[in-house]
Amino acid sequence: GPLLAISGVTRRYGRAARAVTALGPLDLRVDPGEFVAVVGPSGSGKSTLLRLVAGFDQPSSGTVRLAGRPPVPGRGVGVVFQQPRLFPWHTVRQNIAVALRWAGVPAAERPRRTAQLLALVGLGELGRRRVWEVSGGQQQRVAIARALATAPALLLLDEPFAALDALTRERLQEDIRALTRRSGQAAVFVTHSVAEAVFLANRVVVLSDRPGRVVLDLEIPLPRTGV
Ligand code: ADP
Ligand code: ADP
Repeated sequence: GPLLAISGVTRRYGRAARAVTALGPLDLRVDPGEFVAVVGPSGSGKSTLLRLVAGFDQPSSGTVRLAGRPPVPGRGVGVVFQQPRLFPWHTVRQNIAVALRWAGVPAAERPRRTAQLLALVGLGELGRRRVWEVSGGQQQRVAIARALATAPALLLLDEPFAALDALTRERLQEDIRALTRRSGQAAVFVTHSVAEAVFLANRVVVLSDRPGRVVLDLEIPLPRTGV
């Protein structure tokens, strides 16, 4: 079956007669290997959707299934937020190692796995630096490495480039695109930027405003390589 199955999901806020529907009804399926961008204006429910998929929040109606099961926070998904949520006074390596520890990776394996993850996001040289000493773009790379530490079936990206300057953003976008295409990492990426969505994803889902509903669902053909 699909990696992610969202069926008839709504999320309402507030009580009874004054309740406002923020999202849905929404149906969305994501298969392994898909990189889906969810685009919509501010207030269309993108963050709400990611919280439901991550298991941080429950739908008002309908079901969310990750590999056939209701999502449990911290299991099966890695989440990257707009602002990296790191321990700034710890080193880059420590920030990754702690995620590996939470994931139950034995202490003896953590240094090697940490080095692999840092190399993956282009931070091989910075492991010993304190997080507050490295740039915003490098901090976001640490956050991505940490999200990947548990080898999640699904990566959730909530406007991860929004706080970066233009050049840093472009470099990170190119690296994430290369990384996810190479590894076939499934991801759901929310953004209000159509250009960002089309550049990164192989499928773009457009949400309408208030309440967020799917108004367009497009495959982006990959450029052909070789023959
Ligand atoms: P987006 O991420 O696309 O900007 P959100 O998911 O943050 O959209 O919000 C969707 C709608 O739900 C907005 O109208 C927002 O004000 C409302 N909303 C989100 N979270 C809450 C909340 N905790 N309580 C009440 N309304 C909320
Ligand atoms: P971001 O785009 O960084 O997710 P948002 O403005 O969408 O920031 O939302 C930040 C937080 O505020 C979210 O947790 C969301 O649930 C909450 N929120 C958004 N809109 C409302 C609202 N109208 N009432 C209460 N909480 C809200």
